[in-house]
Amino acid sequence: MSKPPPIVKCGHPVLRSRAAEVPAEELRTDELRKLVRKMVEAMRAAPGVGLAAPQIGVDKRVIVLEDAERLMSKLSPEDRAARGRVPFPLTCIVNPVLTIVRSEPVTFFEGCLSVPGFMALVERAIEVRVTGTSEKAEPIDWNVSGWPARILQHECDHLDGTLYVDRMLTRTFGANEEVLARWAAMDPAEVRAKLHRDGSQRGGDGAAGGA
Ligand code: ZN
Repeated sequence: MSKPPPIVKCGHPVLRSRAAEVPAEELRTDELRKLVRKMVEAMRAAPGVGLAAPQIGVDKRVIVLEDAERLMSKLSPEDRAARGRVPFPLTCIVNPVLTIVRSEPVTFFEGCLSVPGFMALVERAIEVRVTGTSEKAEPIDWNVSGWPARILQHECDHLDGTLYVDRMLTRTFGANEEVLARWAAMDPAEVRAKLHRDGSQRGGDGAAGGA
């Protein structure tokens, strides 16, 4: 087993620029297969539910995502249902194009492997569609809601140099241990009401952004 590549942390410019399209001739190559394998190793070692190539310092439009039963074992059945969190198999998408199917906002705590140790409430669209191909050039067309839709929006943002901190409800930003102890079990609307007295303060320039 090779050692998983280190995850690039915020502050590195690769996380702040638009990643390059993968040319068609790179599909099915060993180079791309190796990149995907490294990304999967880094994601599973973290552990995380998604990773974009810039997060291991590679300027390419490639994302991987996977959610497993063991990663959601601490959530109650109610919390799982509220988040629409369901296991799904490992999926790799090259040159993903994300469109919002239903923009109705869903707000939950979200974190990022490149911003370790912190979480914040982030509004995401409830349902999205992602098209692209696998690393083997198989077409992908995925219409999905709930937690996988949140992961896809988070990972596709990475390819455009956007981090969740650009979209978060800034006053809900907190250290993992504090958020988990005080806020994570609470209804997000209540957290928002308690921390955002006017309920309206948004973070930076990503507030209006689409995919
Ligand atoms: Zn991230």
